[in-house]
Amino acid sequence: MSELQDRLAALRGQAREWAADFRAAAPDLDRDPERIKDFLDLPGVRYLSTLGVPPGFGAAPLRVGAHGFAGTTALERTVVLEELARGDVGMTLAAPGPSMSGVLMEHLGDCAQREEFYGAFVNAPTWTCFALTEPERGSDAGALATTLATEGGRLVLSGTKRYVGNSVRARYATVFARTRPGPLGVTAVLVDTASDGYAAEPLDTLGLRGAQLGSITLDRVVVDPGRILGRHLSPTRRGIRACIKVFNELRPGVAALALGIAGAAHDHLRENGLPSRGPDRERIDTLGWRIRATRELVLRAAADADAEGDGYLASAAKARACALAEEVTLAACELLAPAARLTHPLLDRLVRDARGVEFMEGTRNIQHLNLFQGLLTGRAG
Ligand SMILES: Cc1cc2nc3c(=O)[nH]c(=O)nc-3n(C[C@H](O)[C@H](O)[C@H](O)COP(=O)(O)OP(=O)(O)OC[C@H]3O[C@@H](n4cnc5c(N)ncnc54)[C@H](O)[C@@H]3O)c2cc1C
Repeated sequence: MSELQDRLAALRGQAREWAADFRAAAPDLDRDPERIKDFLDLPGVRYLSTLGVPPGFGAAPLRVGAHGFAGTTALERTVVLEELARGDVGMTLAAPGPSMSGVLMEHLGDCAQREEFYGAFVNAPTWTCFALTEPERGSDAGALATTLATEGGRLVLSGTKRYVGNSVRARYATVFARTRPGPLGVTAVLVDTASDGYAAEPLDTLGLRGAQLGSITLDRVVVDPGRILGRHLSPTRRGIRACIKVFNELRPGVAALALGIAGAAHDHLRENGLPSRGPDRERIDTLGWRIRATRELVLRAAADADAEGDGYLASAAKARACALAEEVTLAACELLAPAARLTHPLLDRLVRDARGVEFMEGTRNIQHLNLFQGLLTGRAG
């Protein structure tokens, strides 16, 4: 085994242990997303609460045996997220921590912004949210209409966001807004959610209930110019292109969540009596091989993201993993019993959650469009 494989296997083993707690807590969280407050001391939740805080900001690196993990690479995140999602995706998404906003801050934050933001996670559980989607602008995120404009000599943020995970719990929101028309006019702002004019409401959802999706109203929220992310960079490095770069880096993690769901459904099938032979057994074995093959793709996409690749592998991995999550969860229902979603509550949750991850970070259609563009232009290998 190479040193890297050895390290990742140690990390995977640790995350798998934490995932057992997530599985046990999941039914309570699914019933009431507020229950996350009762689970903050679980080791996996504590790990996520500082995952992505770069070295030097007070978060201790994870140690597993002889190995140390800073948690700042897509590859490490991908391994941990798959295993935790295999326990429960809702718990994984409900945990406090820098999460997606942490990666954005890594790319766009200046010294003062990084100091304030990353410094917040070490002493107390702190939630963040990443507010991009708007009511009529989901897949077409570049058409966002939230504005950051000067009014009476002050910078003011106005608009609405929807389907934003953890928006009700968040202390910090990274909000995407427009300063002028066109792709270079898109800017991210670090918003303190205690600011006047910021209001978040939970949305009732069927899947991934732990993530507590919410809608945000930004009613003339006054923004200090020091809170504009990437203000020290040129517009080409901080506009929509910077966002795309961040998404490319995050996407393997979302693929890993989907893979975790597929793995959980497959485990459940195997734990509930495998037929020794016949077409059902062949189908279950084939799904297992496809999960392993997709894991290879997801890990390659993560390694590519760490090497600042072009994101095509990440799109392929996300599309493939989400399709597989839906297929395996539905196949498990079909193979186990006619009313499996009633008699196996875990499967019912997994089917709902599989549909939820499909929409995170761009649907399959959008990933396919991205891949197709890459193939058409010769940029995707
Ligand atoms: C669990 C979950 C967590 C989320 N977390 C966040 C978050 O933290 N922050 C945030 O900002 N957003 C978040 N979202 C929102 C998510 O990014 C959007 O749901 C997603 O971008 C799709 O947008 P939409 O829901 O408006 O669907 P639409 O864009 O209206 O899409 C509806 C359907 O049309 C298809 N479609 C759309 N455009 C095209 C096209 N050009 N070609 C072919 N097909 C197309 C889509 O594939 C989809 O099947 C989350 C969503 C979910 C479900």
